Amino acid sequence: EQPLRVAGFDIYPTVSIGAVSTEGGPDAADAAELLRRVELAVEQAKTAGRGGAAAYGRALETDSLSRLAMEADLRNAFVRGEIEPFYQPIVNLITGAVAGFEALARWRHPKRGLVPPDEFLGLADEMGLMNDLGLLMMTQSARQLAEWLHRHPGAGKLFCSVNLSVGEIERANLVEDVARIIAESNLPKGALKLEVTEGDIMRDTAHAAEVLTRLREAGASLALDDFGTGFSSLSYLARLPFDTLKIDRYFVLTMDKDEGSAKIVKSVVNLGRDLSLEVVAEGVENAHLARLLLDANCHYGQGFGYAPALPAQEAEVYLNESLADGTAPIKARSA
Ligand code: C2E
Ligand code: CA
Ligand code: CA
Repeated sequence: EQPLRVAGFDIYPTVSIGAVSTEGGPDAADAAELLRRVELAVEQAKTAGRGGAAAYGRALETDSLSRLAMEADLRNAFVRGEIEPFYQPIVNLITGAVAGFEALARWRHPKRGLVPPDEFLGLADEMGLMNDLGLLMMTQSARQLAEWLHRHPGAGKLFCSVNLSVGEIERANLVEDVARIIAESNLPKGALKLEVTEGDIMRDTAHAAEVLTRLREAGASLALDDFGTGFSSLSYLARLPFDTLKIDRYFVLTMDKDEGSAKIVKSVVNLGRDLSLEVVAEGVENAHLARLLLDANCHYGQGFGYAPALPAQEAEVYLNESLADGTAPIKARSA
């Protein structure tokens, strides 16, 4: 682990060790089998954190079997239609009316029940399934939104946002797919919103700028997600064609206890408004936070205080109540 000096840089190597015993342990038939086992042990050592060691044992075989089973399960989930969008309302904090929804992926697993994205996105990414997920989410949410707009003309400028994953923005046919999906559902301009994070933009800002511009021309609107958690280069905001800025829930959740968070939320809201962006706060867990956000001049919020991500039918009930309950229909976009 001594640093190596290469081309003027200090490189700090770590070593992971996999061990297999040929004595008293399971018998390996030949050298190839022995190497396979030791590789499994190295893999195990690496997953446990770099710089560790692991010994081969029977348990490693079952781990890799259960991973194989999970992979097969997930692949099938796409074929069998077990993955679907749930919809979390995004609320106009002034009127209480539903302004739109964020589509969040859920896996209805036949045995495990409802699986949240954190538990399958990593695997889906490793398996190269993120583009399929993106297409599925966009297609289904666009259809759903079109239905809602048709059944609830009072909903006005209702939108639905879909998360793009890192790398999706570099996919060859993304713009064409988005244009087709919007056309097929006959959605008004801007009704389908795509959420991207700074991670998407940083890899190749010039290329990202071009794709974002073309997505907008194709009729999508654009949100910068999780603002404040990454590098938050302010130049992205000024240069790229975003409509919406989403303040990460970390700042919102702590704004009642932490003066720093409250100040950050206020400045981000002001920054957004100066750049003519809609600002959406995430993590609005209670009425007190909603109040603080309103005081900070933030007009839109989403969070468990309103509703978690709901299955389509329940989301429609929520929308209906918001329309029926005397609260003003969607207020004009904030000046
Ligand atoms: P995100 O885009 O930041 O989505 C918001 C997450 O915050 C959701 O978690 C939502 O359920 C949760 N949340 C909403 N309100 C509150 C609140 O008041 N308090 C707290 N503590 N949390 C709240 P979820 O659905 O588990 O999604 C997690 C992440 O997975 C998302 O974070 C997004 O990055 C990713 N994701 C979800 N669906 C998709 C998808 O279809 N495609 C891609 N590429 N990523 C997705
Ligand atoms: Ca999001
Ligand atoms: Ca977010």
